[in-house]
Amino acid sequence: MDSSSSAPAGASARMSQPFAPPQQNIPRIQRALLDWFAVNQRRLPWRVHYTPYEVWVSEVMLQQTQMERGVDYFNRWMARFPDIAALAAADEEAVLRQWEGLGYYSRARHLLAAARKIMAEHGGAFPSDLEAIRALPGVGPYTAGAIASIAFGEKLPCVDANVERVIARVFDVDSPVKQDPAAGVVRRWALRLVPEGLAREHNQAMMELGALVCRKKPRCEVCPLAVFCSSRHLGIVEQRPVPGKKAVIKPVQAVTGVLRRAGRVFVQKRPPSGVWGNLWEFPGGRVEPDESPEQAVVREFMEETAFTVRVAATYGIIRHGYTTYRLTLHCFGLELADAAQSALPQLTAATESRWARPEELDGLAMPAAHRKLADRLFAVAPSAAHTP
Ligand code: SF4
Repeated sequence: MDSSSSAPAGASARMSQPFAPPQQNIPRIQRALLDWFAVNQRRLPWRVHYTPYEVWVSEVMLQQTQMERGVDYFNRWMARFPDIAALAAADEEAVLRQWEGLGYYSRARHLLAAARKIMAEHGGAFPSDLEAIRALPGVGPYTAGAIASIAFGEKLPCVDANVERVIARVFDVDSPVKQDPAAGVVRRWALRLVPEGLAREHNQAMMELGALVCRKKPRCEVCPLAVFCSSRHLGIVEQRPVPGKKAVIKPVQAVTGVLRRAGRVFVQKRPPSGVWGNLWEFPGGRVEPDESPEQAVVREFMEETAFTVRVAATYGIIRHGYTTYRLTLHCFGLELADAAQSALPQLTAATESRWARPEELDGLAMPAAHRKLADRLFAVAPSAAHTP
């Protein structure tokens, strides 16, 4: 339950208390945070049993994903792969399909590889030792710390973007938080704040405070740390954390084509490494300068499959935002320019291909923009729709 939406009775009294510098009040901060978390934490499916598997999957899933969306994906994932053994036994296609829409597909492949490693090297039991956790595929320092502290109670901090923001404000960290020296300062305070024996509750409380109260637009009037907060005391909350350089979002013009033949459509599977590794797609690529989208899709098909195609239909534009670029995808319906040419492609940008029946596309893991196109063209009527 989020009871932090309105100022609690004691809030105004707390706000009027004199400033208590955080550096000299660590135990009081710990207590205030834990008390606040006990009342205000959201009920989330991975906060019931705190199994290492659930903590791990939730932490990986929530990177770059909104909480509400993450909960949906988490519940569906657990229904499909309820434990490490079930995940390890799954084939990659099924895992990627389950992940579809979350992006950064290497995370899903790493989950699968790590589950298999746990089965092979740890007898199916999630390792509790930090070094062994770190040795799992795809597990970086943040995720390892989160699993070790939240699932196993190790005295380690979890510093995600929410925690960075809280610490930068409470301790008035005055340079960009993603870079040293500020990053080191944040990590040191984060560690100092973890109370003995309560790492699980504390780390989640910090992350929850950042998510619910100390947000980009902070709600200091309901904050349990208000009296300890240096930047509030100094009136510079809006200037903390100090931002780093903003990533430039580049526009990308690209094309893709749905080549049809005898009631089937041509799809190909991308190589395992690189963007969209092992996902199925309709072939295509970037539009070159001085080239029309129609010319680009014909050229891309020739380069990637050796098929000579012509445009038979225009399916409009699909736009999709990624972390570093914004994709404008021009979509076409295609047919073989010479009906007598071989239906066997010569693949240069894929590891395999198939002429799929439209209904088979639902079982293939595809990048988000290509899924949108498939749904647009072949969506089943709602009454008969597949429920993932
Ligand atoms: S007082 Fe405001 S700025 Fe400071 S930690 Fe709380 S919400 Fe964040």
